[in-house]
Amino acid sequence: MQVKFWGVRGSIATPGHATKRYGGNTACTELTLDDGNLIILDAGTGIRSLGEDLIKRGKSISAYILITHPHWDHIQGFPFFRPAFIQGNVLRIAGPEAKDLKLREWVAGQMDKVYFPVKLSELEATIDFVPLSENSFRAFDATVESIFVNHPGYTLGYRISQGGKAIVYISDNEPFSRESRHLFTNGVGETIKLYENQIGDPNNRIVNFAKGADVLIHDSTYTPELYKAHIGWGHSDYLFALKVAASAGVRKLCLFHYDPSLDDEKLDEIVDGCKNEMRKMGYSFELCAAKEGYKFKF
Ligand SMILES: [Zn+2]
Repeated sequence: MQVKFWGVRGSIATPGHATKRYGGNTACTELTLDDGNLIILDAGTGIRSLGEDLIKRGKSISAYILITHPHWDHIQGFPFFRPAFIQGNVLRIAGPEAKDLKLREWVAGQMDKVYFPVKLSELEATIDFVPLSENSFRAFDATVESIFVNHPGYTLGYRISQGGKAIVYISDNEPFSRESRHLFTNGVGETIKLYENQIGDPNNRIVNFAKGADVLIHDSTYTPELYKAHIGWGHSDYLFALKVAASAGVRKLCLFHYDPSLDDEKLDEIVDGCKNEMRKMGYSFELCAAKEGYKFKF
């Protein structure tokens, strides 16, 4: 499989000189399966450039788009994803659905005429929906598993496996502790219960989900200092991402979903901070800080 990052930022796009090396687009990652089939992880602003690139490749497009949750930074690029406007293309959008949150409705919502001139129903591509909770399904020749993570609203993480290889994508997730439970006021009761029912450390839910993966892309929104001021917002600092990677025994960790306040210089410092921590703790996985345009095979 191959990974290519098209947007690595959390919350809001941050274009400009200070973010040009890591990139300012919000969450979008292209995953190419071994047989060439395409799975897109999230539809933040980065998906616009991915769409242009796919059109340049000149073939009709058939892809799954796995969306973690309906916050802007994960959906905002979709109305600008040009392959959705082209007849003959087939897009299957998968994402969380609950009693009060219908997948088709939340995807269509941002294209309501108040916000955008073209409605979802007017798009020319064939668009199907795959509503998810915690379950698994086949996407082309791959298996996709989903898990609810600790982030406001219904938010999923994904594990995609094919031919003995696996990648785990957890873009937005906060460490959960029984003591800090009261701080997750935006959380969904059902998800909080899943954490509370976990035997031992509640975060073992995530660790077990990521167990033995070749690649883990994990929320690294904050520095430890920034995190202290944002407990309950649904995100991790890089130390927690390192801990999950080490406990799960993954081969490669990609830091992802950076806070808009972290410019290139600060992100370089974070990478140094991670390397120090890894030395200190004896962690041996490969570290990568996701950057727009960076790609690798595994
Ligand atoms: Zn986000």
